[in-house]
Amino acid sequence: MTAVVPCPACTRALQVPEDCFGHAVQCPECRQTFHAEPVDAPQEPQGHLAEHRGGLILVLGILSLTFMPVVFGPLAWILGNADLAAMRAGRMDPSGEGLTNAGRVLGMVMVLLQLGVLVLGSLVVGAIVIAAMASHAGRH
Ligand SMILES: [Zn+2]
Repeated sequence: MTAVVPCPACTRALQVPEDCFGHAVQCPECRQTFHAEPVDAPQEPQGHLAEHRGGLILVLGILSLTFMPVVFGPLAWILGNADLAAMRAGRMDPSGEGLTNAGRVLGMVMVLLQLGVLVLGSLVVGAIVIAAMASHAGRH
């Protein structure tokens, strides 16, 4: 079995027997010796991975902590989810996973906090309205 390995000096595609992997081989074209390494099949070409947006998503998550959580919270959550899915599917640079996840969690926490405040707030308002109506009805 041979595999095609590009020469690092002249980029010529060389047929290298698999036995030679990990050993120094010499390029017949430019006489450069280099370590033959198996080249991964083109299922995951490095250049075709989308750039991660971990920095952006973390900034959105942090923004949601300080102002306009209604906008930035869901944005960080949704973008973070989409990008993490893309990383797991091998379509995006996975080196940004930590940043992306941090921003996503921040956004998620802010969304859930807002929902909690909203639910609590409407319960309180509802209780006040019911109390006011009850006391109003009681006076008649
Ligand atoms: Zn060469």
